[in-house]
Amino acid sequence: MKEIVVVGAGLSGLVASINLARRGFAVKVLEREARVGGSPLYHPSGQGTFLKMKEMSKYIGVDLSEVLEPIRVMVEMPGRFKCEIDTSIGPPWFFERGPRSTSVDNYLYGIARDEGVEFEFGRPVYSQAELAALPPNTIVATGLHFEGFDLMGQPYLTSHHFTYKGTCDPDLNYVHLFHDRYTTDYGYTSCFRGIRYVHLFNRYRPISLEAREAFARRVREEDGFEVPEWNSFTFPVPAASFNTPRLLVGDKILAGTLAGAMDNVAFFGLHGALVSGRIAALAVEDKYAAWQEFRRCTLPYRPGLAAARLMALQPSWLTRLGFLAAFSDYRRKKFTQRALIAGMPGYLNTVRGCTAA
Ligand SMILES: Cc1cc2nc3c(=O)[nH]c(=O)nc-3n(C[C@H](O)[C@H](O)[C@H](O)COP(=O)(O)OP(=O)(O)OC[C@H]3O[C@@H](n4cnc5c(N)ncnc54)[C@H](O)[C@@H]3O)c2cc1C
Repeated sequence: MKEIVVVGAGLSGLVASINLARRGFAVKVLEREARVGGSPLYHPSGQGTFLKMKEMSKYIGVDLSEVLEPIRVMVEMPGRFKCEIDTSIGPPWFFERGPRSTSVDNYLYGIARDEGVEFEFGRPVYSQAELAALPPNTIVATGLHFEGFDLMGQPYLTSHHFTYKGTCDPDLNYVHLFHDRYTTDYGYTSCFRGIRYVHLFNRYRPISLEAREAFARRVREEDGFEVPEWNSFTFPVPAASFNTPRLLVGDKILAGTLAGAMDNVAFFGLHGALVSGRIAALAVEDKYAAWQEFRRCTLPYRPGLAAARLMALQPSWLTRLGFLAAFSDYRRKKFTQRALIAGMPGYLNTVRGCTAA
C-alpha cells in the first residue's frame, strides 16, 4: 500500500486524508497539537461561510449536512447603517471549529479514523530538514501559522487581531459584521452553540487601542454585551500576488490557506480549505488533472486581484461613499442583496459550479 503523509489535521488536511484513504493509500497525519481542533488560542469558535451544501458534500465526499448549521441572523453594519442579510439566499453556514465533540474538525477526524487514517499528535514539522525527510507528495496543510508559510516559502501578510472568546445563550445564532474606521478589514461578533466570539482584525497594520475601544462601543450598542477582556495575537494570511494561490512546491503539495486558498475572489477560508483538500488529494495521483482543477477553481482570482489593485488607487472616501450608496437602497432592492452576497467569500465559486464537478 502506498504511503502518504499529511502535515496538519485541519479542514483541508482531513478532507485530503479521507479522500486518499478511500483511494487505497495508507495515510499518516502529523499534527502539532495534542488533539484535533487546531490552536486553543482561537478555537473553539463559530466560523461562517456561504456554500452550497449538496454540491460541496458531493465534491469532497463527506456529508456536511450532519455537522453544519445555517446562520439564522446575519447583519452587515457599514458605519451606522444596519442591513439584515436575507439568509434564505445562499445560505450562510456556521462551522463549529475546535476540539469539542460537536465540531467539524472532530466530525472529519471520526470519518478519517473510520477510513483507517493514522494520526500522530504532538508532532509538528518546523524545520527544512524535517520537511526534506518527508516523502514526495506529502501534503502540507498547516493553515494560518507562520512556521508553515516560512517552511514552504509562501508569501504572507502579518494580520493583527483583537479577540474575545466566551459563552452565550445556546439558543442564540447570529453574526454581526462591523465595517468602520477602526479597521480597513472588519470586526464581527457571533453567537453559536453557546460560544460567543468578538473579533477585530486588520491585515495591514496593528489596531490602535482607541480603535479597539470604538469597536467595543459599537458591540455594546448592537449586541448589548460589554467585552470584559481582549486577547491579542498575529497570524499570517496569504499575500495576494499574481503567484498565488499555489498548489505545488518542489515535490510537496499545498492545501488550505497555505495554498493561498483564502481570498474573497478565489476561495476564502473554510470554503477554500474544503475544496483544496480534495484537489490536494487528486494531486497525489494526477498532478496535471489537479492543476487544471486548481486553475478552474481559482479562475476569478487574477482579474479580481487586478480589480482590487485598481480599487486601492481611489481615495478611501470614494470607496466608502460607494459602499454607503449600495446599502442605502438595500431594503428596497433584492438585487443589491444578491449582488453583495455574490461578492462574499466562497460564493462566487459555488455559483460558478466549482464544487459541482
Ligand atoms: C479566529 C478565526 C476566525 C476565522 N473565521 C472564518 C470565517 O468566519 N469564515 C471563513 O471562511 N474562514 C474563517 N477563518 C479562516 C479559516 O479558519 C481557515 O481559512 C481554515 O481553517 C483553513 O483551513 P486549513 O486546513 O488551511 O487550516 P486549519 O484548519 O487551520 O488547520 C491547520 C492544522 O495544522 C496544524 N499545524 C499548524 N502548523 C503545523 C506544523 N508546523 N506541523 C504540524 N501541524 C501543524 C494546526 O494545529 C491545525 O490543526 C478564520 C480563522 C481564524 C483563525
